[in-house]
Amino acid sequence: MLYQSTRGDSTKIPSAKAIVTGLADDGGLFVPETFPRISSDTLKEIAKKPYSRRASHIMSLFLSDFSSSELESYSDTAYNASSAQGFRSPEIAPLYEMDNTTFFLELWHGPTCAFKDMALQIMPRLLTASLKKIGETREACILVATSGDTGKAALCGFCDVDNTSIMVFYPENGVSEVQKLQMISQRGNNVNVVAVMGNFDDAQTGVKGIFADENIKTEIDKSGYFLSSANSINWGRLVPQIVYYFSSYCDLMNKEKIKPGEKVNFCVPTGNFGNILAGYYAEKMGLPVNKLICASNKNDVLTQFIDTGVYDKNRPFYTTVSPSMDILVSSNLERLLFELSGKDGSVVTSYMKSLSEKGNYSISDNVKNELKRVFYSGYCSEEDTMETIRDTFNKKGYLIDTHTAVAYKVLKDYMGATGDSTPSIVISTASPFKFCHAVLSALNEKSSDGSSAISDDVTLLEELSKATGNEVPLPLAALTSEKPRFTESVTPSNMKKAVTDFIGRR
Ligand SMILES: *Cc1c(COP(=O)(O)O)cnc(C)c1O
Repeated sequence: MLYQSTRGDSTKIPSAKAIVTGLADDGGLFVPETFPRISSDTLKEIAKKPYSRRASHIMSLFLSDFSSSELESYSDTAYNASSAQGFRSPEIAPLYEMDNTTFFLELWHGPTCAFKDMALQIMPRLLTASLKKIGETREACILVATSGDTGKAALCGFCDVDNTSIMVFYPENGVSEVQKLQMISQRGNNVNVVAVMGNFDDAQTGVKGIFADENIKTEIDKSGYFLSSANSINWGRLVPQIVYYFSSYCDLMNKEKIKPGEKVNFCVPTGNFGNILAGYYAEKMGLPVNKLICASNKNDVLTQFIDTGVYDKNRPFYTTVSPSMDILVSSNLERLLFELSGKDGSVVTSYMKSLSEKGNYSISDNVKNELKRVFYSGYCSEEDTMETIRDTFNKKGYLIDTHTAVAYKVLKDYMGATGDSTPSIVISTASPFKFCHAVLSALNEKSSDGSSAISDDVTLLEELSKATGNEVPLPLAALTSEKPRFTESVTPSNMKKAVTDFIGRR
């Protein structure tokens, strides 16, 4: 299987190269040339296997320059529930059954209690192996600017992985107390965490500046390092996400909730469009999908796009109680446009050019028809998010986080509007304990402003546990006794020096 750019460059490269490179030379994203098909017989076969072997099988179809035994070994290490740092559910991604046709796929049993673990627990292993395959002898220094969740998931994934080091920058006053403690107490010999005196934008601009700085590249090259990133457009993060769409389908077959071949809906709380894109790829591979429902919060740029075919980022940006979905430009949408336009790189290039020059683009009718074939979209207000959390707990005894609540509300709206009664899976992306303040406010019928994500602190973990009878997930409970390891904070202009100092100490 070879990979090509979404912008039409005709170069074809193997997956190891795509994973190491991240972004194509023409600015596009790497996509597989074709989509392998999974037959219903194969699906029945992999349904008998544990999650890790479902993962190695599906990934092997895309990562053909990796051997089966390599992929099995990475999957077995990444998706295991026997180590203290591993997953807290033997099923890895268990399905919660709310009623006969509504299920929640819980993707938050990993070490950081959010769905980013599903990819970031394995991606670092794919990256290290890829470095070897392409003959890269230097060590990768991963730089991450985080607004909260990605930083910790990346730290956990890269912790003590051979030939990598990782440095995370977070805005000093832009993450919650829980998120901060999660990061600054990270163990491992190849990790570093630094606060930036500024907001998330300052941290992100700083990291982009480092990537663009030739001097720093030359300097760290002398020490045997090169800079790399772990962001959600990397193919190594996308491919592990295809797995759980198949896996949840297998589980529904095993539980005899559906017959083999019967279609299901997936409803996905969407930000950068990585998660739901993996669902679209699964559908292209033959997974019986009726609709992929794209759920947005108050930042409903994707809802507008799927409804009208016009993407327009010239709109206000809202800070919400579901911060991981607060986004105006969803990078992975470019990969969808490539498939919808019949793999026409020139069409994608024109859309992206219009987006960067005018802040908007409008897709052709053909592309729009293809979009509507699989996708449905809806959004959920802040008030409805809070009400959904409260209602779901009071009426069903099931506690969900703010992101999952957005998806569940949009699914119910969809069912109401269409009368569709296809079995549906809500993708549940975070433990409710990750967003204690907002979840507690919801249960207590208090409204919550967008700043609530920042107000989370460790004392609320116990409070939420007492209020609901749910146990605090172990990695979060342990935070109360965790000692901060990383206390350095720098001005944005000193971020470069922080990187070279870190490499100098390695
Ligand atoms: C990252 C994230 C999302 C959004 O996922 P995308 O792949 O960016 O669409 C949703 N919920 C949570 C909790 C997340 O961390």
